[in-house]
Amino acid sequence: MSPSPAPGAAGALQVAPISIDIVGSERQFPVRRVYCVGRNYLAHIREMKEGDERDPPFFFQKPADAVVTDGRVPYPTLTEDFQFEFELVVAIGSEASNVSPDTALDHVFGYAAGLDMTRRDRQRECNKRGLPWEQGKSFDHSAPCGPIHPVARVGHIRSGALNLAVNGSVRQDSVLEKMIWNVHEIVSELSKQYRLLPGDLIFTGTPEGVGPVQRGDRLTGRIEGLEPLQVEIV
Ligand code: MN
Repeated sequence: MSPSPAPGAAGALQVAPISIDIVGSERQFPVRRVYCVGRNYLAHIREMKEGDERDPPFFFQKPADAVVTDGRVPYPTLTEDFQFEFELVVAIGSEASNVSPDTALDHVFGYAAGLDMTRRDRQRECNKRGLPWEQGKSFDHSAPCGPIHPVARVGHIRSGALNLAVNGSVRQDSVLEKMIWNVHEIVSELSKQYRLLPGDLIFTGTPEGVGPVQRGDRLTGRIEGLEPLQVEIV
């Protein structure tokens, strides 16, 4: 008879790996890190009314286990203004360190539709007080993500419509061509700051039309060429 581990002993620790379905495959995409791009569509920068329009995009992170794959997002604590930001997600498939835009796409494994869920009241407060964004952006369940579509299956997603509907009414409606940094540039820029590795996800920024959700709302996000993302706020 083997003794059961004492509470808190290392033997009792089990951390479930975070992974995402790959379309057309039995395999899963194991999530290593989640990067996000801020300020990547001009019309969204304008609606936020913060900073200078000419300030370049930038990066922030969410924890890997903020990724939600079952479409159920609990309304979080500490906010009365829980908002959606619908985004194209890039999945990295090979190591990329200081790569040029010309070769950046070679490191992309595939694409997905995702939501950068945001506690907008906490984010604005952080901005005002010059504090880090964690409370506004990097909380549990803040990164719902649809299945990964391999480049081998759908090619590179460079253009086309992306739109988000809440309970059937369209709230965000734009095109990927309006990104300030395109996918080549995002991967290249980020690879100057971090060594990108297989399993990294990059949420590429949201267009205008962001807004609040309530419990019971159903969100449907569509990006041309990808399966729709369906999320319910619970
Ligand atoms: Mn975002």
